[in-house]
Amino acid sequence: MDKQQIIDKIKALKKERNAVILVHNYQRPEIYEVADFIGDSLDLSQKAQDTKVRLIVFCGVHFMAETAKILNPDAKVLLPAIDAGCEMADMIKAEALQIKKKELGNIVVVAYVNTPADVKAESDICCTSANAVKVVASIPQDKKILFVPDKNLAAYVQTQTHRDIIAWQGFCYVHALYFNKADVEQARKDYPDAKIIVHPECLPEVTEAADFIASTSGMVRLAKEYDEIVLGTEAGMCNRIKHDYPNIACHPLKRTAICVNMKKITLNKVLNVLETETNEVLVSEPTASKARQALVRMLEITG
Ligand code: 13P
Ligand code: SF4
Repeated sequence: MDKQQIIDKIKALKKERNAVILVHNYQRPEIYEVADFIGDSLDLSQKAQDTKVRLIVFCGVHFMAETAKILNPDAKVLLPAIDAGCEMADMIKAEALQIKKKELGNIVVVAYVNTPADVKAESDICCTSANAVKVVASIPQDKKILFVPDKNLAAYVQTQTHRDIIAWQGFCYVHALYFNKADVEQARKDYPDAKIIVHPECLPEVTEAADFIASTSGMVRLAKEYDEIVLGTEAGMCNRIKHDYPNIACHPLKRTAICVNMKKITLNKVLNVLETETNEVLVSEPTASKARQALVRMLEITG
């Protein structure tokens, strides 16, 4: 089967099986072709919660599919590449968080959605890169905050809210290891007319040197205001910009900044899970109910 035949087959099966295909912005461009919705972690959580279908095919990484299952327990959630994890989410374990909570005493735990379900279950409220500032700002001033697992997102939120935040020492290898301040300075020389937009998972020296800091969907919204942009995030994000705005000149801050796990999903794998309904993502109780509370608190704040 050629690419178009696979796409046509996926679209037909999707209707037949009462399925929706949710796609993260970092996915391969051919996956956009079969998407019902493309978005960032926050958009996709909201869509997962609202959708009424029997089947959700989630084209993203494991914690995102798990979040969809927690928010929509009646749907069957399939992850086309079951080994698509997130290195940052693997940097925290529920048992380690329990120990830290005991050590710190009375503390509000804010969990970035890039966490396993059992870590969300140990947390008071979740956040995404799009709403982390709003979530932290909503916490009463007299409360101490433990932010897990991304130390760079925590540092960015601290600059915006001026709150005392204890940060877990996790990070995203794509954002924290590929970009530094010199890369931003080089991009200014290479593309003097471009606006530089970076993800808040980047190092503080990178976010400080950029023009804007945004989630991946925030980048799509900002992009349309400019003719030329440089994106400090997963390199595939420029495909996403070109998908909506083919006339915008979009340059990745580094072409090699690839999230290997996000790229594990292919059209063939999407077709396979639709045909076989395998690779189901399940979350056991009471973890799911506890994690749902933290997610729903976040969604109530975001509106
Ligand atoms: P967004 O929610 O901004 O899409 O970020 C998800 C992610 O994993 C970034 O690395
Ligand atoms: Fe996880 Fe980083 Fe990949 Fe996002 S880009 S899914 S944070 S490893």
